[in-house]
Amino acid sequence: MLMTKVEWTRSGVPSKESIIDATAAGMVSRHDDEYHEFVTEITFERAREFLEKMIRLGHDSVLEHIVFQFWVSISRVASHQLVRHRMASYTQKSHRKERILTEEDFVIPDNLSEEDREEWIKDIRQQIAIYEKWLEKGYDADIARRKLPQETRTDLVMTINARSLRNFFKLRAEHVADFEIREMAQKMYHLIKKEQLDFLFYDIGIEN
Ligand SMILES: Cc1cc2nc3c(=O)[nH]c(=O)nc-3n(C[C@H](O)[C@H](O)[C@H](O)COP(=O)(O)OP(=O)(O)OC[C@H]3O[C@@H](n4cnc5c(N)ncnc54)[C@H](O)[C@@H]3O)c2cc1C
Repeated sequence: MLMTKVEWTRSGVPSKESIIDATAAGMVSRHDDEYHEFVTEITFERAREFLEKMIRLGHDSVLEHIVFQFWVSISRVASHQLVRHRMASYTQKSHRKERILTEEDFVIPDNLSEEDREEWIKDIRQQIAIYEKWLEKGYDADIARRKLPQETRTDLVMTINARSLRNFFKLRAEHVADFEIREMAQKMYHLIKKEQLDFLFYDIGIEN
C-alpha cells in the first residue's frame, strides 16, 4: 500500500520557458543588451549549463524564478514537519469539517509486520469510534477532531520555488529525516527527474 501520495498539479511542472527566463534573469546582471534582445538566443541546453554554474557559484537566488507545485497526501505528523518549511505556500484540507472516516483516512506505516498491521488497523478503528462518539454527543468537528491521531491523512497543495526546494531536499530527502517526509521528498524528486529537471538538484545526494 502506498503510504504517501505525491502528484503534480495541472500547472505544477515548471515550463521550459520559465527555466529559460530564470537563466535570462541571471544574465540580466551582466548583459549590455535588453532582455528581449538576448532571451531568444537561450536554448534549454544553454539554460541548463548556466543554472548548474549558478548553483556551483552559490548564486541560488536566480532559482527563485522557477516554481513547482505539488498535490500531496500525507499524515498530520508529516504535514506538521512540512509546514516548518516557511519558504513555500500551502493550502491544506481542514479537519474542521465533519467527515465519515475510514482506514483510508489514515497513513499506515509500510514497515509493520503483517500481524502488527492488523493490530494497528484495530487501533485506528478504535480512534474512529472515539471521534464518532464525540460527534454523536452533539459536539461539532472542532471538538471531535482533537481525538484524531497524528496519523490522520491530510491533503495539501504546496507551491515552492527551486531554491527553497533545494533546501527542502537537503533536509528531508536524507536518511536522518523521518521516513514519511523522506518518502514524500523522494517521490517529489522522482517526478522532477521524469521531467528532466533533476539537474537543478544535481549536487544534492537524494537517496533512492
Ligand atoms: C532531521 C530534522 C529534525 C528536526 N527536528 C526538529 C525538532 O526537533 N524541533 C524543531 O522545532 N524543528 C525540527 N526540525 C525542523 C527544522 O529546525 C526547520 O524548521 C525545518 O527543517 C525548516 O528548515 P528551514 O528553516 O531551513 O526552511 P525554511 O523555513 O523554508 O527556510 C529556508 C531558509 O530561509 C532562511 N530563513 C527562513 N526564515 C528565516 C528567518 N526567520 N530568519 C533567518 N533566515 C530565515 C534560512 O536560510 C532557511 O534555511 C527538524 C528538521 C530536520 C530536517
